[in-house]
Amino acid sequence: MKRAEDLQELLRRIDHRGYPAYKDTQGSYQFGTYVLSIDHVQGDPFAAPSKVSIHISGQKAGFPKDMIQKKHTRTALADALIRRFGKEAEQHSHKAKGSGKSGLLSVSRPGQEVLERSACEIDPDTGNLTVRLEIGFPANGRTINAGELSKILFRFLPDCVQRSLFYANSDKKHLEQVRQLAEDQQYIREQLAERKLAAFVADGAVLPRESGISDRPMKQAVSFRTPPSMEVTMELPYKGAIKGMGIPQGITLIVGGGYHGKSTLLKALERGVYNHIAGDGREYVITDDTAVKIRAEDGRSIKQTDISMFINGLPNGKDTKAFTTEDASGSTSQAANVIEAMEAGTRLFLIDEDTSATNFMIRDELMARVVHKEMEPITPFIDRVEELYESYGISTILVAGSCGSYFYKADHIIQMMQYEPSEITEMAKKEAERFLDFAKDKPVIPKAEPPYFHRLFAPDKKAAGSDRIKIKGMGKDAVSIDRDTVELRYVEQLADSEQTMALGYMVKYARQRLFDGKRDLKETAQMLEKLVNEKGIGAVCDGKYLPCNLAVPRVQEIFACLNRCRGLSAVRGK
Ligand code: ADP
Ligand code: MG
Repeated sequence: MKRAEDLQELLRRIDHRGYPAYKDTQGSYQFGTYVLSIDHVQGDPFAAPSKVSIHISGQKAGFPKDMIQKKHTRTALADALIRRFGKEAEQHSHKAKGSGKSGLLSVSRPGQEVLERSACEIDPDTGNLTVRLEIGFPANGRTINAGELSKILFRFLPDCVQRSLFYANSDKKHLEQVRQLAEDQQYIREQLAERKLAAFVADGAVLPRESGISDRPMKQAVSFRTPPSMEVTMELPYKGAIKGMGIPQGITLIVGGGYHGKSTLLKALERGVYNHIAGDGREYVITDDTAVKIRAEDGRSIKQTDISMFINGLPNGKDTKAFTTEDASGSTSQAANVIEAMEAGTRLFLIDEDTSATNFMIRDELMARVVHKEMEPITPFIDRVEELYESYGISTILVAGSCGSYFYKADHIIQMMQYEPSEITEMAKKEAERFLDFAKDKPVIPKAEPPYFHRLFAPDKKAAGSDRIKIKGMGKDAVSIDRDTVELRYVEQLADSEQTMALGYMVKYARQRLFDGKRDLKETAQMLEKLVNEKGIGAVCDGKYLPCNLAVPRVQEIFACLNRCRGLSAVRGK
């Protein structure tokens, strides 16, 4: 291994030369307590900054075993280290001067969720720590300014590393709190299944966010209060007993007047599939982590999806057992979203009337009388919601502001009133009974055949032979793989643009190595999940270095992404 002095020597040599001479710095250097690795050097000062990683042995880093052995505490520790390291680095960013991105020090900026990220990885067995960041190598015009890079690599960076990446120098109390929170959150997750709950919302939780563009907690929000009839107590291993609302498995309806906090509650449940940092307000809002938000998504592409459970006999004679379109309608898109979520193994649907296709959700009695059944291809969700629970074990939590028909189907009804929930199941059911008359002569809907999931992708010869497939992230909303743009704006449980980016790499990996004409979508998605789970996100990136801006998505989002790639065509397997 080269030494830090070798790098210093090299920098002196290439000072004032043309920018490409920076390429010679690529490699690993021993810096006393850590190894600095220059993984990729930018082509010019205006290009994407250079990729650098820091490697510290577990022995030197010294984090306690109980923080790194279990996945949930390890992820929480890595998250805390990124935040700390990022704060340190930020203070030094652009202190070294020059043209273009000179002097930039860029570290992943996690939001409110705690996600596994390539920015910081900890080996569970050895405790070895890797931190990845980007640095703008300084230049004057296009001439190397090695003195400024020296400042960064020999003064700023060692400082940041020393202060934030060694247990001995860290705020031990804070890290212990991080570990305990992760353990408590994990405990609630495990309790959900045990107690047959779909979700838990703790008393005192703060659900609303600061604004439409800020995910921080709203200041002066009305904090959550549990309706007595739905109260459950969780004996957390560290925080002790907490009370909150347990939403049982089955069918739950959230009703209430406009602006009373229905969608805010549902949104918090959507994000409850992830753990949140201390101070977020949703630390103890925990949802079954297979939950999928279902919404209408006009215009999405659908490939060979069996939506016949909901839609049959389309006017154009299209086969709904293998439905394919480049431009789905509200109802067909929502039907496909349901079926694909079933395929992805969800146990809980989260639906908001605000973002649903009405004709997918219900069928009005009067409309049913006027437009004859034979002329209506849609069996609405309301006619399947019980079947989905009874035959497939999938619960539904549904926000309904205007449509009362679901009162008949719901096991539990929660009313939001000035941001406070109360359980009104009995009262609402009574009211509903008085209306039963008109539902009397409703025909019994026969059970649907279970959806057929088996869809195959042909080997992608072009992708397999190419090492030039470019992945370009467009924030959280889309990623383009080899110029095929995958729209993910309505995949609402993607929490971070780094997850979107990671999905891009997964699609690329699948196209290059997994599609073989035999493996179906489910196997493909599960293989990607397993690979990343066992070997880290780097397992699906085959480049010379691992990008520092990837976060691990859930298998549900891997499915969602594969299902939305317009560039892929599927065939229905036998
Ligand atoms: P609904 O879906 O019932 O129409 P929303 O959930 O969209 O209502 O909430 C309406 C507004 O109230 C939003 O601006 C939201 O931020 C705010 N809000 C929601 N819950 C709370 C709360 N607990 N405290 C204060 N404001 C809230
Ligand atoms: Mg709403």
